Amino acid sequence: MKETTQEILQKDAKDYLPVYGGRYGIALDHGKGVKVYDNDGKEYVDFLGGIAVNVLGHGYPALVEAVSRQAAQMIHCSNLFYTRVQADAAAKLVALSGLGKAFFANSGAEANEGAIKAARKYAHMTDPDKSQIITAWNSFHGRTLATLTATGQPHYQEGCGPLPAGFDYVHYNDIEELESMMSDKTCAVMLETVQGEGGVYPPKGDYLKQVRALCDKYGALLILDEVQAGMGRCGTFFAYDTYGVKPDIVTLAKGLAGGVPIGAFLCTDEVAKAFHPGDHGTTFGGNPLACAAANVVIDTISQPDFLAHVKEIAAYFRGKLEALAAKYPELVKEVRGQGLLLGMELAKPGTPAVDDCRANGVIINCTMGNVLRFVPPLIITESDVDTVVAALDAALGRM
Ligand SMILES: *Cc1c(COP(=O)(O)O)cnc(C)c1O
Repeated sequence: MKETTQEILQKDAKDYLPVYGGRYGIALDHGKGVKVYDNDGKEYVDFLGGIAVNVLGHGYPALVEAVSRQAAQMIHCSNLFYTRVQADAAAKLVALSGLGKAFFANSGAEANEGAIKAARKYAHMTDPDKSQIITAWNSFHGRTLATLTATGQPHYQEGCGPLPAGFDYVHYNDIEELESMMSDKTCAVMLETVQGEGGVYPPKGDYLKQVRALCDKYGALLILDEVQAGMGRCGTFFAYDTYGVKPDIVTLAKGLAGGVPIGAFLCTDEVAKAFHPGDHGTTFGGNPLACAAANVVIDTISQPDFLAHVKEIAAYFRGKLEALAAKYPELVKEVRGQGLLLGMELAKPGTPAVDDCRANGVIINCTMGNVLRFVPPLIITESDVDTVVAALDAALGRM
């Protein structure tokens, strides 16, 4: 017999480290497509998608089939062995990115940790003092010590010191400030292609191209964190293709295997020269189960028709959100984002709207206190958007 939500919540309160602040009082049981179902049988339209992870929704048949088949064949072997699924996944990502080498880890933080190591090791080949890494205020790069130091939000760092040295912060979209901080001691500039957790801020105008030019001027590497914005979410396979720039290193995770834990960094062949056997590694990273899943996701998302769908449905959704902004001008300050990474900034805290939507069977979330964030599965249809927009309309009306 299934346990009730109350029973599960009670167990959790007793035994699970209480680190998740805004947990909703719901235990999810299963999902199908864009819908998820809680332990008491209630249905929700899921426009959070495991925070940009379930890019193909829930129970996508080709993904279920590949994971089931691989689980039966072999879940894991160590990286002392080669596997076809790992070599395939790396080859696909290298071809799609135009970069030179891929490395698989288990999460976004680990992917970024690897990218930071790559940049430091590369710079140190020519100058041991070339170690400055510049990141953005309001960025989010993960929870390990180096990545929470890279994260330009001091509250994530509180109580964790001493932090790794060599990180400086600038305001995202302020190119003058960035230039004023750079010198030939700058090892890398690390940015999210579109800021996600920090309130959904896309780059303005030619900002990323100008960042690329500054990196070239000072011999610094450009690291783009596409853990959230990549994997087709912005309407191109890599978000940087939307903005016409090429990083030296890009990181992926969340959507990469459609829900199976994985992370990756890709780098140019030039940067890859910094790594020699023994310099980096992981037990689980890029294991057969994760790579079998990643292969299906990569193959599906890289199809031109799939990416065209993302662009189309994103334009439809954004139009509806902008119509709500026009309807509630006092309440909605701005709609922004790129593709299916969309934010609606409110003039008030967003939690009541998130709670109201959830009570009415629609899952969204809120970041930075007042930015409603939409990172749905990429397979959503117009009727899913209509359901969510109707719930949101009602919620905003009640505020
Ligand atoms: C979620 C996220 C991370 C961290 O990923 P984890 O898998 O939670 O470690 C890093 N960067 C960005 C941009 C993210 O959105």
